Amino acid sequence: MGSIGAKDVPQLLDANGRRIDGRGLEDLRPLRITAGPLQQAEGSAFVEWGDNKVMAAVYGPREVHPRHLQQTTKAVVQCKYNMAAFSVDERKRPGLDRRSQEISKVIAEAFESVLFVEEYPRTSIDIYIEVLQANAGTRCAGVVAASVALADAGIPMVDLVPAVAVGKVAGTIVLDLKKEEDNYGEADLPMALVPRSGRLVLLQMEGHMTRDELKRSLDLGVTGCKKIYEVQKQALRDRYAVSAPSAGAEVAA
Ligand code: UDP
Repeated sequence: MGSIGAKDVPQLLDANGRRIDGRGLEDLRPLRITAGPLQQAEGSAFVEWGDNKVMAAVYGPREVHPRHLQQTTKAVVQCKYNMAAFSVDERKRPGLDRRSQEISKVIAEAFESVLFVEEYPRTSIDIYIEVLQANAGTRCAGVVAASVALADAGIPMVDLVPAVAVGKVAGTIVLDLKKEEDNYGEADLPMALVPRSGRLVLLQMEGHMTRDELKRSLDLGVTGCKKIYEVQKQALRDRYAVSAPSAGAEVAA
């Protein structure tokens, strides 16, 4: 959340309820997913979502590095979320910072509950998420990309995991925040869903909202996740259908 003078805050909603980029309150940014773009990774996916560009690559189950993390009863799920130095307006200092560590941890935990880790003791399932261009919602784009990459690698899991951030902007609940809405809005609530069971595997919140707003946000996020889920499935169909078209799956704004 930004802490700047009111005169600098952009108008986030106009009189007609249109957002800064012309979207309605419940509209997603355009989303395009390409499954399997990387040759060297066991599984991969590229997500272009609004102005976000996020690549995910996965490996495993494979030998655990570092060895001491090995668990005798299940696979460990390791995630490395990284934001490229050139991904944001103000050059980001390269390397691990607290934010990247936190995001890596919550994404690893989200997938641990979706992958059949007990089937693969003493191994590691490794998820790499590289944010090449960022415009808010990159952890959600990372989850969306990683789950398509895991499916592309043939790693068994309960379901694909769509994710989206809901937030409160100019007093109103909106779906899929872009950067200005994330910076100057009142609340940001990223979530990830297992559609088959309705279980949330990632839920964070920054800012404030009432109990009723939270309930409406969760409902809106679930609806958004279901649309994203369809694009994820289509990306995999496009890759694996016998006469697969080469273009990525997409949803228009
Ligand atoms: N951001 C930035 N520099 C940073 C971290 C974040 O410019 O070091 C921007 C970036 O566009 C990011 C947005 O702020 O997508 C929101 O960041 P947040 O921590 O809320 O995570 P995200 O919404 O990307 O999951």
